[in-house]
Amino acid sequence: MTAKADTRLRRLPDKGSKDLRLARDIIDEARICHVGFNVDGQPYVVPMALARDGDRILLHGSVVSRLMKNLAAGLPCCVTVTHLDGLVLARSAFNSSMNYRSLMVFGSASPVDDPEEKVRGLNILVEHLLPGRLAELRPSTRKEINATTLLSLPLKSFSIKVGEGPPDDTKSDIGTAIWAGVIPLKLRAGEPMAAPDMVPGISLPAYLLPRD
Ligand SMILES: Cc1cc2nc3c(=O)[nH]c(=O)nc-3n(C[C@H](O)[C@H](O)[C@H](O)COP(=O)(O)OP(=O)(O)OC[C@H]3O[C@@H](n4cnc5c(N)ncnc54)[C@H](O)[C@@H]3O)c2cc1C
Repeated sequence: MTAKADTRLRRLPDKGSKDLRLARDIIDEARICHVGFNVDGQPYVVPMALARDGDRILLHGSVVSRLMKNLAAGLPCCVTVTHLDGLVLARSAFNSSMNYRSLMVFGSASPVDDPEEKVRGLNILVEHLLPGRLAELRPSTRKEINATTLLSLPLKSFSIKVGEGPPDDTKSDIGTAIWAGVIPLKLRAGEPMAAPDMVPGISLPAYLLPRD
């Protein structure tokens, strides 16, 4: 029997949100999520790639993986997506915290078996990880597609928590000579490094060129 997920924030409920658009944005900005599930009483939390197709999350993996087999069989799971936006440096350790946007999605995933839908979903994952890449890749073979499980999880039962703003110090700490504020954090791509066995003379594709 599947227990109904508890999505009501009790700790700091003012940081909560049920905004579906914000949930979509959090997924769209993410390259990874953490998938939690329970097998024989042992909890596992597995990092994975993800993408969004409308109001469902797509996950993929090897057909032989324990994770994919269990999720495909309908084992309840919790997919968590976290963006760490900053370190919040208060004047005390107790009041120091982090700025973040985090999303928890609960439910049971189902396998995408229809061949056309599966290829479309896998393509969405590739494009999500690196927009523009799909057009350059050779098409996946039937064997590669058959070796992959694609899962879809509805973006229906979810909770969002957002931490933002400056430190919230205890009044008596505010006048002290201690630096306080926020260190913003961002995930940034580094310089592309060509594969050592790449055919020489291939220039960087447009989708890898710096945008700013
Ligand atoms: C980057 C980051 C770092 C954090 N560091 C810490 C830490 O070091 N210590 C700490 O105690 N807490 C930390 N938190 C907050 C933590 O995620 C929990 O929100 C908090 O611990 C309360 O947990 P709870 O189970 O008591 O919440 P409850 O409010 O009882 O949870 C009830 C329901 O609220 C929802 N919910 C709770 N937390 C989140 C969340 N983060 N995102 C989306 N939905 C949520 C879930 O649906 C959950 O079932 C951190 C959060 C983030 C994103």
